[in-house]
Amino acid sequence: MERFLDAKLRALAAYTPGEQPRDMGKLIKLNTNESPFPPSPKALAAAEAAARELRLYPDPACAALHAAIAWRFGLAPEQVCTGNGSDELLGLLFHGFCPRGAAFPDISYGFYPVFAEMFSVKWTEVPLREDFSVAVEDYASQPGTVFLANPNAPTGLCLPLSDIRRLLEQNPARLVVIDEAYVDFGGESAASLLGEYENLCVVQTFSKSRQLAGGRLGFALGSKGLIRDLTTLKFSFNPYSVNRVALAAGTAAMEDEAYFEACLRKIMEAREWAAGALRALGCTVLPSRANFLFVSAPGLSGGDYYAALRRRQILVRWFEKPRTRDYVRITVGTREEMEALVRATEEILKGGTV
Ligand SMILES: *Cc1c(COP(=O)(O)O)cnc(C)c1O
Repeated sequence: MERFLDAKLRALAAYTPGEQPRDMGKLIKLNTNESPFPPSPKALAAAEAAARELRLYPDPACAALHAAIAWRFGLAPEQVCTGNGSDELLGLLFHGFCPRGAAFPDISYGFYPVFAEMFSVKWTEVPLREDFSVAVEDYASQPGTVFLANPNAPTGLCLPLSDIRRLLEQNPARLVVIDEAYVDFGGESAASLLGEYENLCVVQTFSKSRQLAGGRLGFALGSKGLIRDLTTLKFSFNPYSVNRVALAAGTAAMEDEAYFEACLRKIMEAREWAAGALRALGCTVLPSRANFLFVSAPGLSGGDYYAALRRRQILVRWFEKPRTRDYVRITVGTREEMEALVRATEEILKGGTV
């Protein structure tokens, strides 16, 4: 550690993103929950037109994009704030909206504890139940801002809205942030509760279900007051964090419902097919409402399954923590990619040659 870094940040352990191989070769990339499909043709055309205007700063108000998002959710544009990926918005929420600390599950998005450390927020991990479900009652005594990924990562399990309501009603003075990165793959969005609860903030992203992970675009939905404050934080750091290309592509992607729905349908079909095929091979597969599967192979540690797939040119994600190390997280790709994954798994399990 260099001597110039502020002492309070010297112990910071950065988030480790999943591998982004420079040379894809024959690799089947199922490790970072991107879409296997390209962006909507309308988003591509909009991005290309916007690229010609890159001389100019983007609209800091993101008016067209916010209008498109607001329209889709039946909200006012003043209830929308966008950022450079939902990570930026989550970071701002940790930075400015956790006066009494933060609470989140022990198994969840690995960025939450990193944000908390980065912004000196006191944080508490609330253990999931043995079956990886969220025990909402365990949050009743938590005074800090609650961050819940729903569906959760890397389990793929989903909480019903009735549980989100209980969480919101436990303490109306406490903010609850629902991170819905995966909600489009079969979850229920808490955005429909925004009219009823002032202490709710919903965060979504264009990275997983709208095929724009490389564009870096996410959004937060909340009351007008909360969004005004979040926007103040954004404008106090980087008012242009949503660039001109992302702005144009995101607006077009949000408006192209048909393409969005078609991609979702294919991914959900591939997910259900792969989950069934893996279970037929004896694997434990959690019921997923996301674009990934959390899988444990019989008689194989998560690390060995990961390595054996890797040797067969299939890249998945393994989280080496006590409660997750028996599992790997497999992004749902195309049907063909999932067929290759199942074939490789069969080979690994039969051959005994890890
Ligand atoms: C992928 C992911 C994000 C981050 O998404 P970006 O918009 O790409 O920054 C946030 N939360 C969860 C749970 C995720 O899986």
